[in-house]
Amino acid sequence: MEKRELIYEGKAKRVFASDEPGQVIHEFKDDATAFDGKKRGTIAGKGRTNAQMSDIIFRHLDKKGIHTHHIKLLSENEILTWWLDMLKVELIVRNYAAGSLAKRLGYAERTQMKSPLVEFYYKNDELGDPMLSREHIAELGLATDEQLDEMAATGLKVNEILAPYFEARGLILADFKLEFGLREGRLVLGDEFSPDVCRLWDTESGEIMDKDRFRRDLGGVEETYAEVLRRVKEEDLALKASIFVSPKKGVLDPAGQASQGALKSLGFDEVSDVRIGKYIILSLEGIEADKVEGRVEEMCERLLANPVIEDYRIEIQE
Ligand code: C5P
Repeated sequence: MEKRELIYEGKAKRVFASDEPGQVIHEFKDDATAFDGKKRGTIAGKGRTNAQMSDIIFRHLDKKGIHTHHIKLLSENEILTWWLDMLKVELIVRNYAAGSLAKRLGYAERTQMKSPLVEFYYKNDELGDPMLSREHIAELGLATDEQLDEMAATGLKVNEILAPYFEARGLILADFKLEFGLREGRLVLGDEFSPDVCRLWDTESGEIMDKDRFRRDLGGVEETYAEVLRRVKEEDLALKASIFVSPKKGVLDPAGQASQGALKSLGFDEVSDVRIGKYIILSLEGIEADKVEGRVEEMCERLLANPVIEDYRIEIQE
């Protein structure tokens, strides 16, 4: 893949043409800005973190049926994507009040929304990215009603996918921003997904784990970005397989029989049969998802179960 001319330079990324028609290279920078560019700085390693996190999150969203611009990670701070004709409307989804919403409507920070809130903003630095109503968007001709409906529905679906995804990694997804563009007339999710464009709070400690550390001078910015990537990466690599092994029906199970007798003597007369087996959890790395089931089955047949006298059931968790 050849990197060609610079097409666009934003605050956090440079976009280059590539030798593949319709495909562009996003180079993520360590530069950080906040408050419409009034605060500027550098976060060492941010470009790497944001490119790698976007790669993992967009692949996950793609798998769940969201159309994204993502193709692949090219290097530690570059991703290859489809070129999109970007809309000038940004979408923000909020699960909790923070930032501009807390300020504008007087919410206490971290107030939970009754249901996820969807808002549209004007991507316009000179105007400070103001919030837009649907009427404003129609008047400005920024997007059609159908596009807005699709953006809102996609934003809510992304929230349904990512809120539990981050929860499993010890993080609360408080809010996030999405950008969309058109490819061959179709609305596609673009831009990035990283601590630059969302708010993440540690589930246990409540600690801020996103760009607010930079905005509010909270310190530990580099470490926080690296920690978020670590949590996302760790889970991305490890596929988990659960195996439930139990004695086949009709096979003598002395442990099961003994337990049944003991349960009866304790008054649990409703127990008509007990079979005692084992539960095995495997973490797997470096294997393609579609090959896991076959491999785990082989492990069961050859070692983990005795297929002559035991049944087993495999569950794969991604
Ligand atoms: O500033 P505000 O509270 O409206 O931001 C809501 C969410 O959208 C935050 O996660 C923030 O990082 C993100 N955002 C963004 N780019 C903007 C405005 C907000 O990524 N231009």
